[in-house]
Amino acid sequence: MARVLVVTGGSRGIGAATARLAARRGYAVALSYRANREAAEGVAAGIRAGGGEALALRADVSSEAQVLELFAAVDRAWGRLDALVNNAGVLGAQMRLEAMSAERLQRVFATNVIGAMLCAREAVRRMSTRYGGQGGAIVNVSSAAARLGSAGEYVDYAASKGALDTFTLGLAKEVAAEGIRVNAVRPGLIHTDIHASGGEPGRVERLAATVPMGRGGSAEEVAAAIVWLLGEEAAYVTGALLDVSGGR
Ligand code: NAP
Repeated sequence: MARVLVVTGGSRGIGAATARLAARRGYAVALSYRANREAAEGVAAGIRAGGGEALALRADVSSEAQVLELFAAVDRAWGRLDALVNNAGVLGAQMRLEAMSAERLQRVFATNVIGAMLCAREAVRRMSTRYGGQGGAIVNVSSAAARLGSAGEYVDYAASKGALDTFTLGLAKEVAAEGIRVNAVRPGLIHTDIHASGGEPGRVERLAATVPMGRGGSAEEVAAAIVWLLGEEAAYVTGALLDVSGGR
């Protein structure tokens, strides 16, 4: 039976590229989304058209009830879980801290940090040998922002990714002896829709010259690192924070 992977935020960008690549490598993929049903169903249909197995499932990761239902749906569909990619993430409009509302801070942390922790909790409950599971792998999609800080743009987002890095280090140690590896990728400037949600669709182009490699990256380039970390070739890698940022 195929290994089963949950990718949160798999409807667009890095998550969609990860879902497609993982499916080509033989994973059955549950891809979650928050709102864009058409995009999510399109990714799942594309995977199925290529001979793979995929389900698009609506679940806002910032809602514990929806996270529980997401994993219950995976249980019903396949009855096993081998891997999780905590990819769903949001940022708000570019601004300084003084202008940020509490609501915005709550939303960013609820999605990027607590959402990832809730999904990881459900994955550990299913994959850990402590509870009769077969082991597995978790990859958290952090950001180079965790080291850079995103001053004047979104320090809240950068801080949430810093929290995700620390969570990666701690959880990796917590479950290392239970068959679960936990790692993070830290993408740099990647061509996806997320920059438009910050109010600057052309952000990658504006900053490309500041990247040592002189260009932004593609979602597929990040997906390749994620899927490598999920797989057997990374069997001795845990607690790693892998920069995928062109040297930035
Ligand atoms: P994107 O193109 O904006 O896509 C975001 C995805 O997350 C969509 O599938 C979206 O679903 C989903 N999502 C958003 N909020 C969610 C929620 N509360 N619950 C479930 N799903 C949710 O973003 P991206 O650029 O691919 O980013 C993916 C990850 O990479 C994020 O964690 C981001 O912080 C990180 N990252 C991106 C970059 C970059 O330059 N692009 C750099 C560093 C790190 P809907 O389609 O339903 O909205």
